[in-house]
Amino acid sequence: MINKERLEHRIEALAQIGKTKDGGVTRIALTEEYRQGLDLISEWMQEAGMEVKLDQAGNLIARKEGTVPGLKAVALGSHVDSVGNGGKYDGTVGVIAGIEVAQHIKEEGIPNKRPIEVIAFCEEEGSRFQSGGVFGSRAMTGNLTEEDLNVIDSNGDSRYEVLRNFGLNPDNMAKAIRSGGDEFELYLEMHVEQGPILIRENVPVGIVTAITGLSLTEVTFEGGESNHVGAIPMDLRYDALLGASETALAVEEIVNKYGGNAVGTAATMDVEPSQVNIIPGKVSTVIDIRDTDLDRREAILHELKKRVKEISERRKLKNEITSKLKANPAKSATHILETMKHKSKELGLKTYEMPSGGGHDAQLMAEITDMAMIFVRSENGSHNPKEFASAEDIKLGDRFIS
Ligand SMILES: [Zn+2]
Repeated sequence: MINKERLEHRIEALAQIGKTKDGGVTRIALTEEYRQGLDLISEWMQEAGMEVKLDQAGNLIARKEGTVPGLKAVALGSHVDSVGNGGKYDGTVGVIAGIEVAQHIKEEGIPNKRPIEVIAFCEEEGSRFQSGGVFGSRAMTGNLTEEDLNVIDSNGDSRYEVLRNFGLNPDNMAKAIRSGGDEFELYLEMHVEQGPILIRENVPVGIVTAITGLSLTEVTFEGGESNHVGAIPMDLRYDALLGASETALAVEEIVNKYGGNAVGTAATMDVEPSQVNIIPGKVSTVIDIRDTDLDRREAILHELKKRVKEISERRKLKNEITSKLKANPAKSATHILETMKHKSKELGLKTYEMPSGGGHDAQLMAEITDMAMIFVRSENGSHNPKEFASAEDIKLGDRFIS
């Protein structure tokens, strides 16, 4: 059986590394705390009978060979980096549960035909370089660009330098690329839900049907001179903030019209000069639109651009639209979903099928192999110290990836 006490104990032990005063965790990728975290899980991986190595992108990879030579590996994974003052379950449960599966196989003497890998992906959160995250899985799937190594953290150190200081060789980054078709049979990731749906449905485990595709678009309005608020009559002003505000409302309206799993947010509003007495002259807003359906997301973006143009013309503002980031949605493999549904019947367990609104390493892994994810019910959202998932629920989730 999956050992619930050991799961619980390991989650607590890992949470001691980078523990914050209010009980959260700050374990930013490629820091000293991160190294200590990797050292601890390396010990557990070895205890589970696996060989451990760190690839050139900082992904920690444990492997247990199979009994039949030449078969492709089953990979389990997630991440152990955190955001600043984050929770102790986000990412860690997937890695620790993967190790538990391997250890269970070892202790029960179950012969595994296929190799098993447990992967702790590097810098999933993206909080160090503010660069969208999933760095390690992008490296493994061959999705890095030159720019990814040049980004700078808050100390002014580039990712290239930081990787070097961690003992890695970024010039050899291509060595981290895995050829999924030959190497992996499938990839499974268990993660806390980070949302309220499983609690609302009173179900411990969610089966993830697809991972949403994120897009970030920056829209900037300029109204010319930032004039005195008192001196300019209402019909003679070019207020950039009003253009951006209308755009934010348009995001809500358009996304609601398309429906489905689409969500849209005008997430930031950068106002210049942002002073009392002055009409806002230049305003940028970064708009986040996500959907599990790529065509629908693109249709929403297309309509939004038309709307920005219409707002600009009517308000006599200049506008600039820049696409900052686009990730493709990923669908879970049908045959794994079927197996998981079967499993829930076998366990007599109610599960809930749902899309993932957050990005995960699994999204990248879907580019090179069949993928599926399990969500575990979690309280108090995520990325904060109050995030909580019960050991009982985590154990139930683990049975779906074992
Ligand atoms: Zn995570």
